[in-house]
Amino acid sequence: MPALLAALACIYCDAIAATPDFRVEDRSTLRMPSTAATNGQHTLTLTLANIGGWNDTGITAAVTTAAGILAQCGLRLAEAELLRIRVPASHRDFDTPRSLELARALPLRKPAIYFAAGTRQRPAFDAEAIGRGNSRTRPELADTVWIIHGARDPGIVIAHELAHVLMDSGEHDNTPGNLMAEETTPDNTRLTPAQCARITATGTRNGLLQAGVD
Ligand SMILES: [Zn+2]
Repeated sequence: MPALLAALACIYCDAIAATPDFRVEDRSTLRMPSTAATNGQHTLTLTLANIGGWNDTGITAAVTTAAGILAQCGLRLAEAELLRIRVPASHRDFDTPRSLELARALPLRKPAIYFAAGTRQRPAFDAEAIGRGNSRTRPELADTVWIIHGARDPGIVIAHELAHVLMDSGEHDNTPGNLMAEETTPDNTRLTPAQCARITATGTRNGLLQAGVD
């Protein structure tokens, strides 16, 4: 019996010891410039989680660019909550088991964009989107985007990954100029009416978009 108790106590102690220290150090509201906050029929409210030492200016610029691109589908990003989260060095990168631990310990309003330092995933991508369809074994990561510091064209990357999340689809469209082309470049920013329809319908159904309010 004492052995069993000791074992139980040990499991409990391990669980406590294994919980890394995640702390929201700063919380602010990012208001979009009026050009990005156009009148749209659908409102997108984002959580921006800075875990990788990004600077606020870089995050604001990227999100403003992404909002401008998504506005073509009648999406309006009025404001976003920007959180600076202190995480242990082991959790600054995107890495499924560790990122899951963070998302579990510190649940955020979705969709959430995590601004990470790097990635430990292989293959390594500049950014990844996790929708409902590819999160069955990691539900806490559903409706999140992970982007690494130093990603090229971060605003376009964010718009592309958010479109994956809102459509709940990993599909690409390599038509020249399309935002959902496999390769994100400043020339690829357009969405077709069908893509917009899917973004708004699926995003609304999944509770990620709200009816627009002026
Ligand atoms: Zn993609």
